[in-house]
Amino acid sequence: MEIEVLAPHGFCAGVKGALERSSLQRGAYCLHDIVHNDMVIAELRGRGMKFVESLADVPDGATVVFPAHGVGPAVREEARRRGLRVIDATCPFVAKVHRAARQYALAGLAVVVVGHRGHAEVDGIVGEVEAVEGAEVYVYPDLPPPRTRIGVVSQTTMNADEVAEIVKRLGADYEVETAAKVCNATKERQDAVKAFDGDALVVLGDANSSNTRRLAEVARCRAYRVGSLDELAAIDLSGVGRLGVTAGASTPETFLEQALARLGATQGG
Ligand code: SF4
Repeated sequence: MEIEVLAPHGFCAGVKGALERSSLQRGAYCLHDIVHNDMVIAELRGRGMKFVESLADVPDGATVVFPAHGVGPAVREEARRRGLRVIDATCPFVAKVHRAARQYALAGLAVVVVGHRGHAEVDGIVGEVEAVEGAEVYVYPDLPPPRTRIGVVSQTTMNADEVAEIVKRLGADYEVETAAKVCNATKERQDAVKAFDGDALVVLGDANSSNTRRLAEVARCRAYRVGSLDELAAIDLSGVGRLGVTAGASTPETFLEQALARLGATQGG
C-alpha cells in the first residue's frame, strides 16, 4: 500500500499561537478546551493547566486562558470585573469574524451566523452580536423574515463550498452583506483533501474537532476520521492501493508520526 501524507496538514497558525501563548503561564485555568484535541488537552493538564466550563470555576486572583475559538464580550467583561489575569489565545481569524459580526450589528443588519449551534466559536460570535443593544442574531438555518437586510458571517471551520452555497441561496430572499468565509488553514486543508485521488483517506483528529470532521466530509474517496491508534487499527484497509493521510488543524504531529508508524507496521504484516 502506497501512503501519501497530504500537505498542508495538522496544526494551523491559530492553534500554534494559542498553545505558545497559553504555555507562558503555569497553573492557569483555561475556559473550555483550548483547542478541540484530547491529546493536546492531556499534555497541557500534565503541565499544570486546569480546564473549566465557566468563569465561576476560576478562583479569584487566578489566570484565565480564553481558547482559540474565542469568547463573547460578556465573558471578557466578567473576567475584567473580577480582576482575573487574562491570556487571550483567541485565533486572529476568529477575532476577525467577531469584528465583522459586531460591525453588521452596529450598522443595523440582522446577523446570520452559518455554523454549528452549540460550538464554542458560534457561542462567542452570537455573544458578540448580543452585546450590541437591539441587535438580532440567528444561527443558520434560523433566519429573519424575508427581505430583511442581513450580514452573514460563518464559523471559520465549516465546509467552504457549503458556506458559499448557503450565502448564494440567501441572496435570493435577503439583501445580503457577507463576510462568511472559512479561514485560510481550513480552506487549504480542504483543498488538499479534495485534490487527493487515491483509494481511501485517513483523517487524524477528534470527533469534536469541526475542521477535522469537515476534512472527512469533503474527501472524494472513502474517508475515515480517526482519533486514536485503536480506532486506526479497527479500519479495514484491505484492497487499498493508495492511502492518503491528513490531520486536522488541532491534531499534534506526534499522532501523525505514531499513525504512520502503525500503518507501516501493518503493511509489513
Ligand atoms: S482552524 Fe482557522 S480559525 Fe481555527 S485556530 Fe486554525 S487558523 Fe484559527
